[in-house]
Amino acid sequence: MKSRKDLSFEDLLDEVIHKDLCNRCGGCVSFCSANSIDALKIGKDGFPEYKYKDKCLECGICYLICPKTRTLEEELKSHFDWRYPLGNFIDVFSARSTDEDVLKVATDGGVVTSILIYLLENKVIDGAIVSKRMGTHGRKPIIAKTRSDIIDAAGSSFAETQHLDELGNIYSTSFPIIKVIKESASESMKKLAIVGTPCQIEAIRKMQLLNIVPSNLIIFTIGLFCMQCFTIEDLSKKNFAKTHKIDLDDIEKVNIKENLILKMKSNVSFHIPLDEIEEIARPACLACNDFSNEFADISVGGVGSQDGYTTVMVRTSIGKQVYAEALYQHYVENSHGLCHESRKVNEKSLLRIIKDFAVRKKIRSEEKNKSMNK
Ligand SMILES: Cc1cc2nc3c(=O)[nH]c(=O)nc-3n(C[C@H](O)[C@H](O)[C@H](O)COP(=O)(O)OP(=O)(O)OC[C@H]3O[C@@H](n4cnc5c(N)ncnc54)[C@H](O)[C@@H]3O)c2cc1C
Ligand code: SF4
Ligand code: SF4
Ligand code: SF4
Repeated sequence: MKSRKDLSFEDLLDEVIHKDLCNRCGGCVSFCSANSIDALKIGKDGFPEYKYKDKCLECGICYLICPKTRTLEEELKSHFDWRYPLGNFIDVFSARSTDEDVLKVATDGGVVTSILIYLLENKVIDGAIVSKRMGTHGRKPIIAKTRSDIIDAAGSSFAETQHLDELGNIYSTSFPIIKVIKESASESMKKLAIVGTPCQIEAIRKMQLLNIVPSNLIIFTIGLFCMQCFTIEDLSKKNFAKTHKIDLDDIEKVNIKENLILKMKSNVSFHIPLDEIEEIARPACLACNDFSNEFADISVGGVGSQDGYTTVMVRTSIGKQVYAEALYQHYVENSHGLCHESRKVNEKSLLRIIKDFAVRKKIRSEEKNKSMNK
């Protein structure tokens, strides 16, 4: 294995991008552009590539922070008191938003959206990096600065969105502006929350571990559970739609819980076993081993909770503090109220289900990595 000081983007090309393991999180480009080095860009197909190869300083940071490389893994695990198979966590429960506007548009219980609104309205953050809906199924990362920006981004898209690139773009093109903002002691955009898949959150955590810009601006992370990502176009491949007699134009809402759930405009819902959508999973997702977003402050998903509720794992002390305040100020409510016994039963059953998925994903990843190394 190369020593840290010998690593560069060439190693990322060899070990990740050319092996089809890049999940297009944009972390490498975000770091490089945010620090005004500007050697990298996101190419047309969404994968990172050189923008100006001669500007590369061969610092190796793009390699270190990539969620697909392992050099920082042990350090990260130890920093977060990681335990197999779910990482560290303090509490697990089902919850939902108390806001009708949020519940109407949310993927599950709207907990993500309501926690972000709580953070913004209480001035804990200046903005949140979320994925804004574009067209029927498309998404674009934005910095949401108002309650309505946050609500506009509710719901889920199962394709990758390059949140981290957004962070880079904002702070590369605006880097001098940040300095001015700092100098003028303005509060604007100094504290951000981010919502992301496990690969996106891992890239942020690695940047924070190395203490590098712009990850210092992220003060709160909400991690989505994730079995795999895909686009609606992926679903149309391999006769998937034909086999299931699905008109892709008729899809109104997509969700992943125990199954892939396609809710049609005609009000019919299809529940498709996750095994079946593995055929459209990308190699990067098949090799990925984190289901429950092990390094987030709060992780959320749909599995285990009844419809209209989000499964919530509180992991860190800041996660605990934020969730307790959002609960106290009635932005969110727990499904099992305060009854200790029923909360314990719910917690046990949620943990069993999340563990099943987490272990399943780790086994799938081991098998994929073994087959790639043959
Ligand atoms: C790619 C992907 C895979 C998932 N896989 C699973 C799974 O296997 N099992 C499971 O239980 N849950 C999974 N989820 C999580 C689930 O779909 C819900 O997002 C979660 O339960 C939160 O629901 P909510 O109603 O509280 O969120 P909402 O209040 O609706 O907010 C959702 C937030 O997620 C952000 N977002 C949407 N799409 C993306 C994206 N592609 N990348 C980054 N951020 C995004 C939105 O901007 C919004 O802020 C997945 C989510 C995604 C995006
Ligand atoms: S300058 Fe550093 S971060 Fe940018 S491409 Fe080169 S090695 Fe990667
Ligand atoms: S950091 Fe993200 S975008 Fe860059 S190579 Fe790794 S997975 Fe791909
Ligand atoms: S399965 Fe892994 S690599 Fe794929 S989107 Fe989810 S977290 Fe990222």
